[in-house]
Amino acid sequence: MKLFEFAPQYIRAIHPYQPGKPISELVRDLGLEKNSVIKLASNENPLGTSPLALEAMSTALNEIARYPDGSGYELKNALAEHYAVSVDQIVLGNGSNDVLELAARIFLKPGTAAVYSQHAFAIYPLLAQALGAQGISVPARRYGHDLVAMLNAITPETRVVFIANPNNPTGTLCDPSDLQRFVERVPQNILVILDEAYDEYLPEANKANSIAWLKKFPNLLITRTFSKAYGLAGIRVGFALTHPELADLMNRIRQPFNVNSLGLIGALAALKDTEFVRRAYELNRAGMTEIINGLRQLGVEFIPSYGNFITLRIRGDEINTAKAYQNLLKQGVIVRPLGVYEMPHHLRVTIGLKPENQRFLIALEQVIADSA
Ligand SMILES: *Cc1c(COP(=O)(O)O)cnc(C)c1O
Repeated sequence: MKLFEFAPQYIRAIHPYQPGKPISELVRDLGLEKNSVIKLASNENPLGTSPLALEAMSTALNEIARYPDGSGYELKNALAEHYAVSVDQIVLGNGSNDVLELAARIFLKPGTAAVYSQHAFAIYPLLAQALGAQGISVPARRYGHDLVAMLNAITPETRVVFIANPNNPTGTLCDPSDLQRFVERVPQNILVILDEAYDEYLPEANKANSIAWLKKFPNLLITRTFSKAYGLAGIRVGFALTHPELADLMNRIRQPFNVNSLGLIGALAALKDTEFVRRAYELNRAGMTEIINGLRQLGVEFIPSYGNFITLRIRGDEINTAKAYQNLLKQGVIVRPLGVYEMPHHLRVTIGLKPENQRFLIALEQVIADSA
C-alpha cells in the first residue's frame, strides 16, 4: 500500500473548509486596486481592533522570543471574573474553532455520532467527518435549528450535539426558553456544545442566560470568541466555558501553547474595552437597518439575522446566484457564497461600515440590472 492509502477513507473524503476570499487573492485574480476592494465575507469587525488591544499587543511584540504563558493565567482569571465562573471551567483556544475541535476529539471517533442542524456552521460536519464519526444533519425549520427534531435525532451512538446561536450563516436565533428546555432534555451523557460566537451582537433581551445553566448541566459547553465583536480574528483567540472535569480533559489534549502571546495580551485588553464592543454593537445595529432597508427597496428576499451578517436570496436558479457572486467580485465586493451550506441560492454579506454597506447595495443593484 502507498503511504497516503493508509489515511482513513473518512479523511481522504474531506472537502476542505472554504474561507471567505482574501482581498489579496481578488487583487491578484482580477487585477483590481487593493483599496477599491471591500471584504464583507467573513463576519469580521469593520471597526478593526480595540485600540487598547492594539496598544497592548504592540508593547508585547518585544517579548515574542519567549514562549507564551501556556496556562493563560491572566486571561483566564479576567474571563472568570467577567463571566462569574471559576478558572477551572475555562479552556482557551487558538480561536473558538480550536476549542470546538478539542471537545469533539474527546468524544467523537468511528462508531459515534454528532447531531447538528442543516445550514449550521460548517465546522461541525467537518469535525465529525475528520474524526470518523457519523454526522447527523437535522433538517432546518425556516432556516433555523429545529430543536424538537434535533432531540428526536439523537441516537444511542450520539455523543455530541452542536448548536450555533445565533447561527452562521443563517443568522437565526433559538428562543431562550426553547433552548433551555432542549438542554434539559438532552441526556446528561451527551455533550451539548453551544456556540455563541455572535453573542456580543445580541440585544440583552435576546440573550439566553446560558452561562448560568452551566451550574445545572455538567454536559454543557459554551464557546465564545475574540474574532468577531472584539475584532481579533487574525490573532486567533477563543474559549470554552464548561464543567471543570471536561475542561480538564480538554486541557490535557490541547497543544501546550495553543494561544500565542500576542493573542493572550490582546484578548485581555480587548475584554476590558467595553466601549469598543459597545461601538461595534451600535454600528452593527445601524448597518443592519441600512442593509435591510436597501434590500427591501431592491425587492431582495433575506433571512432576518441576529448576527453581524445577513443572508439574502438571489432570484432565479443557482447559476444566477453564482453569476451574482462573480459580478459582485468584479465590482470589488467580496461576499460569501453558501453552496457548501446547502443554500446555493443565497449569499451572505457581513455588515460593514456605512460606506461599505452603501457600496454593497449599489453593486447589488447593478447585479440585478445586469441579470434583467
Ligand atoms: C466566526 C465563527 C466562530 C469563530 O471562530 P474562531 O475560530 O473563534 O475565529 C465560531 N462559530 C461560528 C458559528 C462562527 O461563525
